[in-house]
Amino acid sequence: MAEATPLYETYLRAPLRFERGEGVWLIAENGERYLDFAAGVAVNALGHAHPHLVEALKAQAEKVWHLSNLYEVPGQETLGERLTKATFADKVFFTNSGAEALECAIKTARRYHFSKGHPEKFHIITFEGAFHGRTLATIAAGGQAKYLEGFGPKAPGFDQVPFGDIEAVKAAITDNTAAILIEPVQGEGGIRTASNEFLRALRQICDDKGLLLILDEVQSGVGRTGKLFAHEWAGITPDIMAVAKGIGGGFPLGACLATADAASGMKAGTHGSTYGGNPLAMAVGNAVLDVILADGFLEHVRDVALVFRQGLAALHDRFPDVIEEIRGEGLMLGIKAKVPNAELLQAMRAEHVLGVPAGDNVIRLLPPLITTAEEAREGLSRIERAAERVHRAHEKQAAQA
Ligand SMILES: *Cc1c(COP(=O)(O)O)cnc(C)c1O
Repeated sequence: MAEATPLYETYLRAPLRFERGEGVWLIAENGERYLDFAAGVAVNALGHAHPHLVEALKAQAEKVWHLSNLYEVPGQETLGERLTKATFADKVFFTNSGAEALECAIKTARRYHFSKGHPEKFHIITFEGAFHGRTLATIAAGGQAKYLEGFGPKAPGFDQVPFGDIEAVKAAITDNTAAILIEPVQGEGGIRTASNEFLRALRQICDDKGLLLILDEVQSGVGRTGKLFAHEWAGITPDIMAVAKGIGGGFPLGACLATADAASGMKAGTHGSTYGGNPLAMAVGNAVLDVILADGFLEHVRDVALVFRQGLAALHDRFPDVIEEIRGEGLMLGIKAKVPNAELLQAMRAEHVLGVPAGDNVIRLLPPLITTAEEAREGLSRIERAAERVHRAHEKQAAQA
């Protein structure tokens, strides 16, 4: 497969070629149907080929594709207004990706202190197991050696502490600290949820010390956990928040949201993006919100999440030799495997159900938010058969040993 590809060898791709999608299903070139509980790593929030999104994209494509930010873009104002109305934020900057939303968040926090006469406050406290993207700043923020190696000196100004350790956070604060950056639920790190108490304690520390709280809700946001944003479960609000993935439903779109005060340093000329807030992206982003903000939608997410939760708990009980733990919130779920996660993922693929590997030997289930209870049960029975396969294979191995 990989011998003669013109592509960079940066991805370990599964040998699957999908041609089209319908809701929670992906259809391969050979006609085989897969239940897509990966959803483009939490991107296809409304599944594939959602009629409302298709219509919005087509309608905009016939008007104007791109304008640049030299002019007013009405779709940005509409989407910005809707996002600020639905959240803590007063201000929005649109990007094309999660990493760019984080870059904007980091720059916003640094400029905030700079504009208040404290250019020395540019350090940001981050957490072990974090993932914030693949730009030079965001790999430094994520702090993972495997992503930093070979790319020159780590960008300065990121101080990492253990996830969930409030004393370590306090100890890491200096006169140079500008902000604390955290994913309310670590995605790539293995679906590790920050407790409500921990998030509240971070909010309190930020208030006490004049620091900004930055949340990375690129994966956990836009309805994924059963609230519009995951931090709502803790009853706190950040000063700055990075959003992407689900907000574009598959169209490249991200956003950095901030309070008016936090964004006050970002004056004309301090930041920009060629494509950020492009009319096509705005049309799709607005269409995504039409669905997610509709009455009862988040309730549906929470109901289906319960079906998953109960089904997975039963699988955990039945296959303790395959599944160690079930984690997560809403439709951001993790199966911590007892066997190598790749093995269980492979068995799932054989049953035509897709998940995403994560750190800490976890398989992420990130089904589209439109998944019905019936589709959830179908997926669960496929995962059950996959666990059965792995269980039997290990029994056989043990018998031969
Ligand atoms: C995916 C992800 C990012 C990076 O998003 P890109 O669009 O790949 O740049 C950042 N933070 C979190 C939590 C993510 O899950």
